[in-house]
Amino acid sequence: MSEKCKAKLINFVKKSVFADFIRGLYITFSYNFEGAMTLKYPDSEKWIPYRRFRGLHTLNKNSEGKELCVACELCSRACPTDCITVIPEENDAGRGIADRVAKVWEVDLTRCMFCGYCEDACPTTAVRLGREYELACTTLERGTRSRDELLLPQPVPEALTGGVVAKARFIRSADGIKVVAELGKVRQRKL
Ligand code: SF4
Ligand code: SF4
Repeated sequence: MSEKCKAKLINFVKKSVFADFIRGLYITFSYNFEGAMTLKYPDSEKWIPYRRFRGLHTLNKNSEGKELCVACELCSRACPTDCITVIPEENDAGRGIADRVAKVWEVDLTRCMFCGYCEDACPTTAVRLGREYELACTTLERGTRSRDELLLPQPVPEALTGGVVAKARFIRSADGIKVVAELGKVRQRKL
């Protein structure tokens, strides 16, 4: 039997026993026995991104607690959307690693596109894009984050690799809503 006839015969048999239809049903039903791929966010689960994630800015301190920012304004110059404001001041009280520190350091998140140019430009690794991504706000004022807020420790520590789903608590208060992750209780996400 020629190859062409063989292919025709196989095709005929396949069609006669609805092979493709049964295969399709099998694939659909096999998903019924797998766990859900979706997250129960924000009620009880929260995605913890990998370190490479670019979220809310954080301003770093060194191990002695001194601010690394020397208010050189390079981040602000490198920013393509002009959303960082740095106003320097002289301060020899030991607040920063140098006498020149930032009197004002703020970022307008409503214009930021999280490109990471600011952290690339920073000569002292003072600014870094962290893993905070819940940045929705109801007022324009809340869209701007100040130096004091950015100096606070980020909820996800640098040491945590990320790429996991953490148990979380959904908290509603006068300040808005918050999803607090329990970083000790994490699971791998099914891909
Ligand atoms: S991430 Fe990009 S857009 Fe946002 S502040 Fe930094 S440089 Fe500007
Ligand atoms: S964050 Fe870095 S680049 Fe920006 S002003 Fe401070 S030291 Fe300079």
